Amino acid sequence: MKSIEQLPIDGRRVFIRVDFNAPVKNGRLTDATRIRAPLKTIQYARSRGAKVILASHRGRPGGKFTPELSLAPIAEQLSEELGFAVAMLPDSIGPDVEKHIAAMKPGEVVLLENLRFHKGEEKNDETFSRALAALCDVYVNDAFGTAHRAHASTAGMARFVADKGAGYLLLQEVKALSSLLHDPPKPFVAIVGGAKVGDKIELMSNLLGRIDALIIGGAMAYTFLHASGVSVGASLVDDDHVDVARKLLADAKAQGVRIALPVDHVVARDFDENAPVSTTADETIPEGMMGLDIGPRSREIFRGIIAGAKTIFWNGPMGVFEWDSCSAGTMAVANAVADSDAHSVIGGGDSVAALAKSGRSHEVTHVSTGGGASLEFLEGDTLPGIAALADGACS
Ligand code: AMP
Repeated sequence: MKSIEQLPIDGRRVFIRVDFNAPVKNGRLTDATRIRAPLKTIQYARSRGAKVILASHRGRPGGKFTPELSLAPIAEQLSEELGFAVAMLPDSIGPDVEKHIAAMKPGEVVLLENLRFHKGEEKNDETFSRALAALCDVYVNDAFGTAHRAHASTAGMARFVADKGAGYLLLQEVKALSSLLHDPPKPFVAIVGGAKVGDKIELMSNLLGRIDALIIGGAMAYTFLHASGVSVGASLVDDDHVDVARKLLADAKAQGVRIALPVDHVVARDFDENAPVSTTADETIPEGMMGLDIGPRSREIFRGIIAGAKTIFWNGPMGVFEWDSCSAGTMAVANAVADSDAHSVIGGGDSVAALAKSGRSHEVTHVSTGGGASLEFLEGDTLPGIAALADGACS
């Protein structure tokens, strides 16, 4: 995979797939993180006199023109970030777009309209892919967050462009995540939380041979506790994954990987933000109560394991961290990871948000911009958006 610096971009039309799927409220952007993420790539392309064509999806318009999901508010923010006007084009393909691009001068930047206004984008349709490819001379992917999707703009179009490669953000993500798979400094501690066991079991299995300890928190801990015979009361148990959880526990034991499950819990009778909470004495949850966060002793144990790590990967909250009453566990992990000097990589929207809430995002090695993509990468899959950047093109 070539880096943008290895591509002949001077004075040429460079299509950069970015991930501008950012939250907008009342027509205004509420968080500019995703807009800032690919700025280095955009600035570099401009500095080489490229004609920069930016493209992204936003939301799920389902192949229909949906004014609320226009990228226009993004173009405004981007213009502010870059300090010059970025032209917002009316569509992502078609005669108007082609005309505008044909008149572009070196160093100019345009933003195409939401790619998903066309059904062909998510279907990875060849006609749509060719139409996008015809707009440019060079294809650059800098959208790690969608690299696990085989869509026209993330994979399909790359087949029809001879010069293609990765932007700085994609390169940085691949480097940080690869470092977890290849000779990570030991001890390597993985922390996995959240609700859906099925979403993360492959990740846990793939990491098992590489890690020294696996901390499991969040709702998924109850499936593992249940699988090991502990009473978890009315807590969320993923019945379809009890057997795989049991197998993972056995595999971990066989491979000498320490599994750390909560030894106490913050519980409530109802799944309600205002329900009174209490702490259990041990790992057992009484009948009728549900576990909503890890308890204080678990926080201490997890903190100790994290403090001893040289490599850390964290994905998923330790409890219903959106509620103040159940956020202490997730915040404790965020602080423990930030306190550590280990090589630390954080993936997944909730963990990234919790870390941001702690104000310590800058104290970790890498915050991934792609939750789903980072999981698939660490499951050992070759992401379609990365595979598409390998040399070779057809026409
Ligand atoms: P996931 O998408 O699988 O990473 O799950 C994230 C969600 O899991 C967050 O919205 C949390 O509120 C939720 N969650 C974490 N712990 C618990 C719990 N103990 N009970 C119910 N939901 C939880």
